[in-house]
Amino acid sequence: VNYKIKDWMISRQRYWGTPVPIWQCTNDKCNKYKVIGSIEELKNNSIDGKVPNNLHKPWIDNVKLRCDCGHEMIIEGDVLDVWIDAGTTSWNCLDYPRNTELFEKYFPADFIIEGKDQIRGWFNLLMVASTLAFDRPPFKNVCMHGFITDVEGEKMSKSLGNIITPGEITDKYGADTLRYFVTEITAGEDMSFSWDEIKLKHKNLMILWNLHNFIIDFQSNTDLMIDSDISNLSKLSKEEEYILSRLHSTIKNVTESLEKYHFDNVTNKIEELYMNLSRTYIQLIREKSVVGSDEEKKAILYTLFEVYINVLKMFSVVCPFITEKIYLNLKEIAAFNLDKESIHDYDWPKFDSEKINPEIEHDMRLVQDVMQAILSGRDKLNLGVRWPLAECIIDTKDTELIKAIDNLKDLIIQQVNVKKIVIKEMDVELKVKPNFKNLGKDFGNNTAKVIELINRNASEISSHVKNNKAFTIEGFEITSNHVIIEKLCPEEYVLSEMNGASIYIKKKISKELEEEGFAREVIRRTQQLRKDAGLNKKDAIALFIDGEVDISRFDSIIKEKVGAKTVSYGIFDNKTSFTEEKIKGKVFKIGFERV
Ligand SMILES: [Zn+2]
Repeated sequence: VNYKIKDWMISRQRYWGTPVPIWQCTNDKCNKYKVIGSIEELKNNSIDGKVPNNLHKPWIDNVKLRCDCGHEMIIEGDVLDVWIDAGTTSWNCLDYPRNTELFEKYFPADFIIEGKDQIRGWFNLLMVASTLAFDRPPFKNVCMHGFITDVEGEKMSKSLGNIITPGEITDKYGADTLRYFVTEITAGEDMSFSWDEIKLKHKNLMILWNLHNFIIDFQSNTDLMIDSDISNLSKLSKEEEYILSRLHSTIKNVTESLEKYHFDNVTNKIEELYMNLSRTYIQLIREKSVVGSDEEKKAILYTLFEVYINVLKMFSVVCPFITEKIYLNLKEIAAFNLDKESIHDYDWPKFDSEKINPEIEHDMRLVQDVMQAILSGRDKLNLGVRWPLAECIIDTKDTELIKAIDNLKDLIIQQVNVKKIVIKEMDVELKVKPNFKNLGKDFGNNTAKVIELINRNASEISSHVKNNKAFTIEGFEITSNHVIIEKLCPEEYVLSEMNGASIYIKKKISKELEEEGFAREVIRRTQQLRKDAGLNKKDAIALFIDGEVDISRFDSIIKEKVGAKTVSYGIFDNKTSFTEEKIKGKVFKIGFERV
């Protein structure tokens, strides 16, 4: 504790600074001192009863006091070291000792935040002064940040000419972007400045912004009100359960971090949540948000709004401007029923541990890759997602992945539009090829010979390698490192690989599945035609469909999804106008009248 600590010289022979308030008698035989503690006291002791407006040098030097011995007293003349002012901040800013009320309430401070250069500076001097005055520390927690260095990690300095001012950043990308960037820096550590990082944060703010446009558009298209009764999870689907769990676990984590003053652990968590909202939840409801029932749309609106408004409440401490602007825009929409004047008027959100489901959060992360792999398999088939597929076989040994797929199977089926998902091992032929990259360094001059051996013994090698065994021939030990193994996809499937799993998608679509695809396309296009014709949600129609493919067995679902009282197939009365829609090479005439 005493290492390198020396006595602290508290006075300076300088001009600027707080004058040392000590007056000394000019009588050599007296030499009495007087310490003045307030303007009031100075006025009472001053010879002419006056005090200058400015209590600094040089005016203060002219104030003379009368000593008990009858002589004049003059000011001592030094100024205090600036660290006296800084070191006593913990109480001088509370107007203590004149005012005791504030001191009782706020001293010691909950926490202090400063740069790492203040270990021997402000952190230390506050501690010294407070210990001397009260024998107590002046703060309960210390939060210390590092420095922002230039792109190469060099300290920014005038002489190096590598300074980037905060103003330069805020001029280009706004103050919120700068705050967003600095709040993620790990406490106590230096951080290289990066324009790319700044741009990334700015781009993320655009994603946050676009979310509010999406929610406003969705509300105006559906004309629904926020209905909190729907918050009962039994009325919600897995995708809602997932994002609401993400919301509540994020509120919990962020609140805990803030309570521990781990500020550097807050911004990234809120960011992750609104990215999940944008990239996961909204992707999952794309189809449902258009063709879903009113109940489903109410659940979507409630969920979108609930997650988003709480993101705004939390994020307003990081980015106060954009969150406020977004809030004011949302406030314009009556359906959201926002009564507070500003986002900053809200209390900090509370989490509901009943709604936190770590299993679904974990499983959703895993099955997203599965859904992505199936969708990219569909791309190879050149088949839009509205065309149902018969079957997907997922070949994986990853038990966590298997559990996740089982838990969220219905969701996957509905998202990728397949009728069946089967998890099993596929017995496929393997193709073995030499891995030239690794052969040379293990076999040197014999490489050519080994390549020939691999090509000649491919099937034996594949069965060995499949069972994690090496294959030895003519004294050469061939392992999985020496070969590349490709799975040969059976003719009737398309193969899509992902990390830890191979997914086989059945190519053949039965006549029934194909008709279902046509029906879904007709529904989608009829909804669009209704919209183009300016019809309201509540307007019922009489629908006429004359198509090259018979979709009449989907009659009840067509009626429900497009709001049709009747559907006539293949018959047009001559007064109804129609549109010709071409779907996968087949022509459908679609027309309707309001009834
Ligand atoms: Zn005297």
